[in-house]
Amino acid sequence: MVKIRSLRKRFGAVEVLKGIDLDVPHGQVVCVVGPSGSGKSTLLRCVNRMETIDSGRIWVDGDLMGYAERGDRLHLLPPADLCRQRRPIGMVFQRFHLFPHRTAIENVMEGPITVLRTSRAEARRQAEELLERVGLADRADHYPAQLSGGQQQRVAIARSLAMRPKLMLFDEPTSALDPELVQEVLAVMRDLAATGMTMMVVTHEMGFAREVGDQLVFVDGGVIVERGNPREVLANPRNDRFRAFLGQVL
Ligand code: ATP
Ligand code: MG
Repeated sequence: MVKIRSLRKRFGAVEVLKGIDLDVPHGQVVCVVGPSGSGKSTLLRCVNRMETIDSGRIWVDGDLMGYAERGDRLHLLPPADLCRQRRPIGMVFQRFHLFPHRTAIENVMEGPITVLRTSRAEARRQAEELLERVGLADRADHYPAQLSGGQQQRVAIARSLAMRPKLMLFDEPTSALDPELVQEVLAVMRDLAATGMTMMVVTHEMGFAREVGDQLVFVDGGVIVERGNPREVLANPRNDRFRAFLGQVL
């Protein structure tokens, strides 16, 4: 579903991603961990082309992100085509970014109505189903300010799913939450993984990575220094920096 080859990205003089190769097969969950500033968010943002890249290639579901291939030449995609490419990629952030003046269900209905041209009635029906799925059927008419952080994040996940994504990117979705609200969001993500959704998850939740992840990737200094089956690499970390990192987060 996702194929990344020799990805490099710099901000000014600083090279943040220094050659990333990564495959996320269809239906797999890849958990990305690493110290602050190691390039995890940048990696996700390159995948859905919120950032331009300096070199390398990224394919999502066979689509080369950001470019059209004509013969052996690459051409930058015009903005409209880029939007079409990005549409099937959902992203959930640390901060929930809900529309504050819209209720939970209106937040979920917004994308389908404005982007997918779904009818209001159908968008409402789907939104009700999604809110049910994230355990918030009874909060449909609440405004974000009337919801807990965990509930807001679950609305944000439902809103992403309303766009019928084939890939979901999560950037520290539980880091802004009070500890007692973390599990309810992880439970929704676990259910989503069980439906076969392909997911890339930046997280410090090693329990989640161990139970739900098919792959664990440790990024440090813009390169992947350790990767593998989460249960195996967590039980037997080989890289020194990974071991030190685990010592801090576990
Ligand atoms: P954290 O765990 O704190 O979220 P991260 O691994 O997600 O960190 P990134 O946000 O990807 O790290 O940032 C990697 C590096 O790139 C950092 O040094 C950051 O300051 C820098 N950086 C990120 N975005 C930009 C930007 N838009 N302009 C300039 N520098 C940036
Ligand atoms: Mg980050």
